[in-house]
Amino acid sequence: MSRSAASRANRRGEPPPSPEPLPSPALDSHTHLDIVLGERPADGEHGEWADDDAVDAEIAAAVAVNVPRLVQVGVDVASSRWSAALAERHPNVLAAVALHPNEAGAGAAIDDALAEIDRLAALPRVRAVGETGLDRFRTGPEGWAAQEASFREHVRIAKRHGSALVIHDRDAHEEILRVLDDEGAPEHTVFHCFSGDAVFAKACVERGFVLSFAGTLTFGNAGHLREAAALAPVGQLLVETDSPFLTPAPYRGRPNASRLVPHTVRALADVTGVQLEELCAHLTANAERVFGSW
Ligand SMILES: [Zn+2]
Ligand SMILES: [Zn+2]
Repeated sequence: MSRSAASRANRRGEPPPSPEPLPSPALDSHTHLDIVLGERPADGEHGEWADDDAVDAEIAAAVAVNVPRLVQVGVDVASSRWSAALAERHPNVLAAVALHPNEAGAGAAIDDALAEIDRLAALPRVRAVGETGLDRFRTGPEGWAAQEASFREHVRIAKRHGSALVIHDRDAHEEILRVLDDEGAPEHTVFHCFSGDAVFAKACVERGFVLSFAGTLTFGNAGHLREAAALAPVGQLLVETDSPFLTPAPYRGRPNASRLVPHTVRALADVTGVQLEELCAHLTANAERVFGSW
C-alpha cells in the first residue's frame, strides 16, 4: 500500500506492545520501514528519512520476538534507493525495489525511473522487484494503461535479474493473472497481502505462486482469506506486516510494525493446522527459497 494519507490514517494511537516471541525464527516478507518511522521526503520538499539508529531499533524489536528476517519494500525511486541502501548495510534486511502501481498510475513510470529500478535490481542485496501490479481501487480508469505498462516492465526487470516478483493486487485479481500469463511469470512470484478468496488462491497456487498473508488474515470479516490460506500448500505461504498498514487484531487501526507479525503467524498456524514451530520453519525456508539467504 502507499502513501502518506493512508499512512496517517493507519497510525492513530499508541504503538501496540510486542507480542510473546515466536518459538522459532520467522520473518516479515513485506515492510515499509521508511513509512513506519517517518514522513519520507518523496518530493524532496518535506519530511525526513528516519535516522539509522531509529531504523536499527525497529529491526532489533523484530529480532527480539524472533523475527530476524525482513524484506524492506520500495514504492518509488527514492524509497527504492533507500531500501537498497538499508539492505546493503543491515544483515537482517533484504530489499525489494519498484514503482508502486498507484505511482505508475499517476505517471511516475517514465523511462528514467524504470532504468533506475533496473539498476537497483542488479544489486546483490536487492532480491525482489516489487511492489508492482495493479490497483483498481486507488487508481481510476485514466491511469490503468500506464499502470499495466509499468507492471509489464517490472515483470521483465525481475526476469532479467532472476529476482522474485512482489505483486500488489487491489481489486484486480483476474487482470493480474492475465498479465502474468501473457508475460510469463518469474520463477518466484509472491502475492503480497493476499486478498483473494479460495477460488483465486487455487488459481495462484496452481501457477506456483506464493501467497503472503498480512494482518488482514486476523480480521473478523476475513473468512475468505482464512479459506484461501487453508487450501494453500505450506510451501507456498509467507507472512508479512505491510507495516505501518494493516495492523493485526486485536490492534487493528493502530500503528503496525514488523515486531507484530507473530500475531499473523499464530493466526496462520490456527488456520492451517500446522504446529507453530513447524510453520515458522516452513516460512523461513520459503522465504530463503524465494528471496535467497539473508
Ligand atoms: Zn501493496
Ligand atoms: Zn506495501
